[in-house]
Formats: sequence, structure tokens, C-alpha cells
Amino acid sequence: MALVNCPSCGKRVSSKAKDCPHCQFVFAGSSKEDIEREAARLRQEKSDKLVSQSMLALLLSIAAFVYLFFQQPLANSWQRSTALLVIGIGLVWFVINRVRLIMLKRKR
Ligand SMILES: [Zn+2]
Repeated sequence: MALVNCPSCGKRVSSKAKDCPHCQFVFAGSSKEDIEREAARLRQEKSDKLVSQSMLALLLSIAAFVYLFFQQPLANSWQRSTALLVIGIGLVWFVINRVRLIMLKRKR
């Protein structure tokens, strides 16, 4: 019994299964074209999600930076540490999402 990735949800499924036990996507009766279209739709969905997440991360960093710039919280205050932490998290999150996006595109 071989395991294949479900074209719809991406989970591991037996190649002999007629449909996916995770998402009920039906393999039997769907042509190769159907499966490819479904896989493309899923990839698009994933990349859209990553793009919006990276935008959110960037916005978070920018907001924290703007706060730091205009409010000028005192050194060693919790406001300053929090703002710096948020900038850091936002940037790391942004980079991670960008890398995942590049890897997703390379898989094609
Ligand atoms: Zn599935």
C-alpha cells in the first residue's frame, strides 16, 4: 500500500482509497485534470494566506516602530521593550512567510 498526498488537503492518504478520509475529496472519477486544478487552487489559497500574513507581520512592525518613534518611551521601560519585541517578532514573522512563499512557488 502506497501513500500519496491528497491533492485537496495535502494529507497522506492510501493510494487505493476512493476518497480522502480527511476532506472527502473524491479521487475516483476525477480526471487528472480535476486533480491538478484542485492542487493549483489549493496552492493559490496557501500563497494568498502567506501574502496576507506577511503583510500583517510587516504592519505590526511598522506600527510598533511608529509608536517608538513618536511616543519615545523611556529606555528600560516596558513600553519600549514591548515595542522592540513587537518589531522583532513582526520582522521575523515577515521573513518566515516570505521564505515559505518562495518555497511554495519553487514546488511547482
Ligand atoms: Zn483530503
